[in-house]
Amino acid sequence: MSPLHEQRYDVIIAGGGMVGSALACLLSGHGLEVAVIDRDGAPLEPFPATYATRTSAITEATRRLFVAIGAWRGMQARRVFPYRTMEVRDAGSGARLHFDSADAGTPDLGHIVENRVILAALRERLAEHRNIHLIAPAEPAALHLDSDAARLRLDDGRHLAAPLLVAADGGRSRIRELAGLTTWGWHGDHHAVVTWVRCAESHQNSCYQRFLPDGPVGFLGFDPHHASIVWSTTPERAEALAAMDEAVFCAELGAALEHRFGAVEACGERAVWPLVPHHAHHYTRPRLALVGDAAHRIHPLAGQGVNIGLLDAAALAEVIGEAHRSGREIGDHAVLRRYERWRKGDNLTVQLAMEAIKRLFAVDATPFTALRGTGLRLLDRAEPIKKPMIRRAMGLSGDLPRVVKSSGG
Ligand SMILES: Cc1cc2nc3c(=O)[nH]c(=O)nc-3n(C[C@H](O)[C@H](O)[C@H](O)COP(=O)(O)OP(=O)(O)OC[C@H]3O[C@@H](n4cnc5c(N)ncnc54)[C@H](O)[C@@H]3O)c2cc1C
Repeated sequence: MSPLHEQRYDVIIAGGGMVGSALACLLSGHGLEVAVIDRDGAPLEPFPATYATRTSAITEATRRLFVAIGAWRGMQARRVFPYRTMEVRDAGSGARLHFDSADAGTPDLGHIVENRVILAALRERLAEHRNIHLIAPAEPAALHLDSDAARLRLDDGRHLAAPLLVAADGGRSRIRELAGLTTWGWHGDHHAVVTWVRCAESHQNSCYQRFLPDGPVGFLGFDPHHASIVWSTTPERAEALAAMDEAVFCAELGAALEHRFGAVEACGERAVWPLVPHHAHHYTRPRLALVGDAAHRIHPLAGQGVNIGLLDAAALAEVIGEAHRSGREIGDHAVLRRYERWRKGDNLTVQLAMEAIKRLFAVDATPFTALRGTGLRLLDRAEPIKKPMIRRAMGLSGDLPRVVKSSGG
């Protein structure tokens, strides 16, 4: 039964992070009234002068989506960093795999953008749309998926209802839990230490990843002498790295990177993230869909998490837009199942590939290491195989939503 003072929308999105906010912009383009709820109501700006700890490597597909919703220029006006080369090195064998945007015939392979820059530009767009209503800070307290609408009671006592509710509230999704949707996964044996660093030598718009036996250390270049670091390792080692004196940490990191960019001279605040992969058994129920980390959380070693989450948003918006135009009920399970069939297989493939790569490089036994090195060296010379790999890493292969098919601006 609907409460007396119920605020009604076409779609409610729980979670105004990168995926939820982008989805709201896409849905607003279909003329739908959208409510976005987030527990974090703190302003994102002004930014501190230093770099942020959390950063994303974003693909060309993601950049196109940001262009389409008018958020890319807001990111460029703050700061984005293109990268033109990517090198993967195996510490065990010394072999390397090198990708260059010139081989793909594109100006760059992708961009490194701080999460707060992405969010600030997206939130700016939300504020510009009259049919998007940001409700923050607020949290869902109770959920009912009724036959005519999804009904949400917020912690401040407000009641909201819509034909469709989307959970974009991250890996520990409260909506997923309230709806009784389960996940499968495995106990993650990695924690990531994240920070920014300053190096003595210029990285020349490159990204670098070195696979050590206990996990990969990733270097994502910002301006010529600064980079974002994601160092995945055992939980014990991660805690030790985070607790070290700055000079000792910089020396350890420099050694882990083989001093590829000279001495590591300084670092920012270090944060530790447990990496616990999961995948929802089902992405949808009647009147409910999961997107982004609420549906799947993957290892960050190839920087794909938010990129595949944004493809979820683009696919769901396309499916809903078509249903809305043809007068179909947008919360109908048959409509939502189309989205699930479209995205789940691709997301599972990416997740399992990340896990396979992680395990492949973790083996530290001599005959296997030598074999792995030979395989990598052969692959590095196999241009016909590398090209499709680059397109895949740029998010440009597979069954893409329309919004990312065109080349953007
Ligand atoms: C160390 C690390 C490095 C990474 N690097 C990359 C990378 O380079 N490239 C890449 O593509 N991905 C990367 N990822 C993954 C990426 O960060 C996630 O996939 C992405 O943040 C998911 O976005 P989301 O919007 O789905 O969820 P989130 O970013 O978790 O956002 C969820 C939103 O929901 C809100 N929320 C949560 N719970 C509630 C609630 N109960 N009520 C109201 N609001 C709520 C939160 O405030 C937040 O705004 C990395 C992840 C880690 C851990």
